[in-house]
Amino acid sequence: MGRLLVTGANGLVGSQFKGDIIAITSHVGDLRDKKTTEDIINFYADKDRQGIFAVDKIIHCAGKVGGVGGNMNYKGDFFYDNIMINTNVIEAARKAGVEKLVAFLSTCIFPDNVEYPLTESKIHLGPPHFSNDAYAYAKRMADVQIRAYREQYGLKYTSVIPTNIYGPNDNFDIKNGHVIPSLIHKCYLAIENKTDLEIWGYGTPLREFIYSKDVAKLTTWVVDNYDDSEPLILSTSEEISIKDVVDIITENMNFKGNIIFDKTKPDGQFRKPCDNSKLKTYLPNFKFTPFEIGIKETIKHFTENYNNIRK
Ligand code: GDP
Repeated sequence: MGRLLVTGANGLVGSQFKGDIIAITSHVGDLRDKKTTEDIINFYADKDRQGIFAVDKIIHCAGKVGGVGGNMNYKGDFFYDNIMINTNVIEAARKAGVEKLVAFLSTCIFPDNVEYPLTESKIHLGPPHFSNDAYAYAKRMADVQIRAYREQYGLKYTSVIPTNIYGPNDNFDIKNGHVIPSLIHKCYLAIENKTDLEIWGYGTPLREFIYSKDVAKLTTWVVDNYDDSEPLILSTSEEISIKDVVDIITENMNFKGNIIFDKTKPDGQFRKPCDNSKLKTYLPNFKFTPFEIGIKETIKHFTENYNNIRK
């Protein structure tokens, strides 16, 4: 096998792939642009130029992502950026003769109104939640594109569906980021400024969190071993309430002030529990990082790199 190329290589998951990889960050080029994308992928996948080092597999992590705030406020950006990036990367990989590609979907692309638990076969069974419908439809199209390319061109392209990912190197933007990085950042500022800690919504919604390093390990297995037209859900199948997440973060950061639940702020979907039995049949012994440990490492990374992190 040749080399692995990772898109979104500065991101939450992309930055966790180590070793001899071609790391494509946003500084290398704008993947929303077709020609730029083709130039990058052609260059690294060209067997005449690269010989045995030519790229023959891609883990495609690049995309515009954000929390419930970002998704509601920038629906146009979330749609356009993701539909362009996915369409360009998958098409450029096909044209360059890349043998294997794994794209990232997300559990928020599932229908809002669907029988739980979520399984790989339920992605297209109804409209997504209104808070992130633009992102969800754009991402669903990556699944459609991959299935179409498998049928027409016989390509071994597939996708994974991780639940809510957290970890070092996240975007700690308070307005548009995901809940864990936002809460860590808000807690840090509340301690600094001796203010209350404000949580969005009721604190009752449930989420399944997965550590970025676990996602990278599982996806490394997927790119070498999994070849099914149906995506693979990456999930611990363990739900936790936002209120409990708040308690764990505040305890670890030693926050002693008031915690306020701002019920005018969006809760997003109430829950999106996943069935991880397909993953378990392939990797029955995989050990997920315990949530408390992942949170400790994420907080450590945040505080040690405060001046340089995305925020
Ligand atoms: P989602 O899974 O797409 O809804 O992703 P988020 O990470 O944005 O939000 C998860 C849950 O955390 C939602 O129920 C939010 O209401 C709740 N939440 C509480 N405080 C915050 C916050 O400061 N930022 C974000 N993004 N979510 C928060």
